[in-house]
Amino acid sequence: MTRCPGCHSSDIDVFFSVDDVPTNSALLLDTREEAVSLPVGQIRLSFCGTCGHVFNAAFKQALAEYSGRYESTQGYSAVFNSFHRRLADDMIDRFDLHDREVIEIGCGNGEFLVMLCERGGNRGVGFDPAYQPGRVPIPEDTHVTFVADFYGDEYTDHSADFVVCKMTLEHIIDTRQFVTDLRKAIGDRPDTHVCFQIPNADYVIGDQAFWDVYYEHCQYFSPGSLAHLFRSCGFEVDDLWTDYDDQYLVIAARPSVEPTGKKALPRQPAEKDVSLLADEVQRFRLDVPVRLDVWRRRISDAATSGRRIVLWGGGSKAVAFLTTLGIGDEILGAVDINPNKQGTYLARTGHRVIGPDELASIRPDEVIVMNPIYLEEIRAQLHAMDLDPTLTPIE
Ligand SMILES: [Zn+2]
Repeated sequence: MTRCPGCHSSDIDVFFSVDDVPTNSALLLDTREEAVSLPVGQIRLSFCGTCGHVFNAAFKQALAEYSGRYESTQGYSAVFNSFHRRLADDMIDRFDLHDREVIEIGCGNGEFLVMLCERGGNRGVGFDPAYQPGRVPIPEDTHVTFVADFYGDEYTDHSADFVVCKMTLEHIIDTRQFVTDLRKAIGDRPDTHVCFQIPNADYVIGDQAFWDVYYEHCQYFSPGSLAHLFRSCGFEVDDLWTDYDDQYLVIAARPSVEPTGKKALPRQPAEKDVSLLADEVQRFRLDVPVRLDVWRRRISDAATSGRRIVLWGGGSKAVAFLTTLGIGDEILGAVDINPNKQGTYLARTGHRVIGPDELASIRPDEVIVMNPIYLEEIRAQLHAMDLDPTLTPIE
């Protein structure tokens, strides 16, 4: 029987299915052959009627690869970098991070941890199996070390004043175990602050962002289901908020001094009733198939009439968009400003990832923007190249 990974309830409803999606959408794939023959898995997006959590009931952790081939940085975008700096400063302020020990779980190549340590004068240890030394420069006098491994039992002797974990929890199927282990590792240090950032399921489900539903993301937390998870694993929730145009959800928690479940803790304002989430799930179930048909028809009609269309964004959203719609040659390629991605191929569909400068010869009629938050940045870049295609933000 399928059970909710957050609360273990069996009140589960599968409301959206996609077959044969790539099990990895963020790998750097050097040849089209390698890209199109990538393993596939299934999506069975499921809603827990007890805690409001959404998850992929068909996810198999063993199929997800997080190696040096895993490329997830957004650090080539000025918009993202300024958000990242603001987030680091906000955390330094909020948690008084000066001269502190900081751990980042799932630190990627360490951009954010380096910022926290450099800007707050902290000492950091970052954990990530996909960490690649040298990709992010470490300024002199900044005390940061990295462990290219999953954070687990063997590392719990690294004590910290602050534990941060961004865009990682949604990749882990046994979240209860993960958060319980973290609580155990913190032990008897009630002043340790914990801060997790994940995609906001209220946005993914409420805004019907089907391009944000992909295999590696096995979990989709709403504020309520995230708070529920932390509380039931021995934390008190201090705050819950959204950022990055509501795309991200952030939770701040501290170890609970009361035994789990012994004390009624006040709910955070961001926590919605499960019944409201159930309504959004119901609308997703009914509306998304219609939206998919509209997109398919639009793209196919445009391609038939000779319009040259590219995507802007060559990451997981692009892969999810193309594989969910079943789009092939109608789209000419996917632009990405990350030079490490240029010249690689998108998982399963095999679309080529190109640099913006190639658009000078492609001269697209239309650019589908995979994340509207970058719209103005993209418009400026196209303008500088004297190109004026129609910009279609995904919606
Ligand atoms: Zn649940």
